[in-house]
Amino acid sequence: MDTPTHLVTGGAGFIGRTVVDRLLADGTPVHLVDRADQPRMQAALRDLAAHPRADLLRVTRADLATADLAPLLTDAGVVVHLAGQPGVQASWGDGFGDHVRDNVLVTQRLLEATLDAPVDRVVVASSSSVLRGAPDGPVDEATTPSPVSPYGVTKATVEQLCATYASRGVPTVALRFFTVYGRHQRPDMAVARMLAALDGGPAFPLRGDGWQERDWTHVDDITAGVVAATRRDLAPGTVCNLGSGNPVSLREVLRLTGELAGRPVPVRPVAPVPGDPARTWADTRRAADLLGWEPLVPLRAGLADQLHGAGLLTTTSDAA
Ligand code: NAD
Repeated sequence: MDTPTHLVTGGAGFIGRTVVDRLLADGTPVHLVDRADQPRMQAALRDLAAHPRADLLRVTRADLATADLAPLLTDAGVVVHLAGQPGVQASWGDGFGDHVRDNVLVTQRLLEATLDAPVDRVVVASSSSVLRGAPDGPVDEATTPSPVSPYGVTKATVEQLCATYASRGVPTVALRFFTVYGRHQRPDMAVARMLAALDGGPAFPLRGDGWQERDWTHVDDITAGVVAATRRDLAPGTVCNLGSGNPVSLREVLRLTGELAGRPVPVRPVAPVPGDPARTWADTRRAADLLGWEPLVPLRAGLADQLHGAGLLTTTSDAA
């Protein structure tokens, strides 16, 4: 049987372009839909156009908050919905409107459209930000969402929408991504900012005491989890963590990055920010059970690869 076309929303973004790259390499036909209104996303589209299997790629530039979605779904067998407005800090104040539009409204429109265009699976990006943190240990999916940022509220709503449309037969799966890093990372994210600081950009803004811990998860591991979620037999409405299960402090990541670069990351202290949990920590047992998934990229190797991509790796023993 022919592999069905995978409609990948947000396919020009950090995670999306990595997922598209992997699907094409696997021989999967991809219909990428992205607003691509920034140079970063336009560069991703140029890179993907040069993919060895670009013959399998179709690209539509559209705003999913307003576009007619029915034509996008006519030949899609699987939907991977990664389009969204990420970033916790930008969601406070006036930024909330964009988050509601690109996370909540877009997801609802897409799920509504799938009611008339039956697909085998709709994989949707959720976030560890639906949780308030993990003060007492790893957090499993049975834990009631209790976000501490407006961004987290939009993603908790996205999960609710997935459950609501699952009750009408849409085969949704919401994946909670935990702090994703790796090549092509968004420039507003921590490791990308460390690399920019090493490359002559602004010093890294170290929030608070720097001992806050994150469950850093490599984008290749996230991609493997997304692909597994498109293939496995899963109950509609399933929610699943995708995290390394290994929280590491920001200070330790700064230290490791400096060690790999052969010089310390320039840092400037800034005040702690609201919505920044003290620790995130994924319980990954459900991902192992349902997706056969386990994180494979160790933090040091993943950081070395990201530094290598930016031309900043000095220790040859860490080169991939
Ligand atoms: P990104 O900003 O690099 O990618 C998002 C993409 O979605 C962009 O290319 C953007 O143009 C597109 N997009 C946004 N709104 C759109 C709209 N209305 N119409 C069409 N395209 C639109 O972000 P990312 O880090 O790759 O995140 C991808 C998804 O994963 C997001 O839903 C995000 O909330 C979620 N997520 C990311 C992380 C992380 O650590 N990066 C963690 C948890 C969840």
